[in-house]
Amino acid sequence: MSHAPAAPWVEDPEIVRRAHELFDRYDLSSARSPEAMMDRVIAIGGKPISVQKIDDPAITHTTALWVEYEDRSKIILRANDRPYYQVRGLHHEFAHILFQHPACTGLAAEPSLIRYTEGGVVRGRVLISDDDVSSAHGNRQQEGEAEYLGALITRTLLRPIYFDDERIFG
Ligand SMILES: [Zn+2]
Repeated sequence: MSHAPAAPWVEDPEIVRRAHELFDRYDLSSARSPEAMMDRVIAIGGKPISVQKIDDPAITHTTALWVEYEDRSKIILRANDRPYYQVRGLHHEFAHILFQHPACTGLAAEPSLIRYTEGGVVRGRVLISDDDVSSAHGNRQQEGEAEYLGALITRTLLRPIYFDDERIFG
């Protein structure tokens, strides 16, 4: 029997409930395009968000990162990750912003990241890693919340757009 490594997040009914509650409270299903979702997250988070795609082979463990500055937020994605992972990482960081998860000590642990995060506070990230690394960075409950809400965001954006057309012609 194959044995999959444990995910670096947990998913229990309480986490699922909180993710759905936030999703509903912020009416995220009304965002029907990636641009509209970005606008919603910016409006709710209260800070402009820039997305920086970096191409840096030194960054090996982190595939997405939320860095918060006084007047803005930055989400870092790896340019060479598969598009699927970039989207997943973006939505995971959106979820951290929506939950307003606090900064976590140890999040800036990867030394190669420092020049990308200087002057800011790292408040969320996605790791592609083994269990050793993921367990080192902390809060599995917050990671679970970000992962689940991120999946809800992805799912709502994947709804076929003809649903809207059908409503018009309904
Ligand atoms: Zn995270």
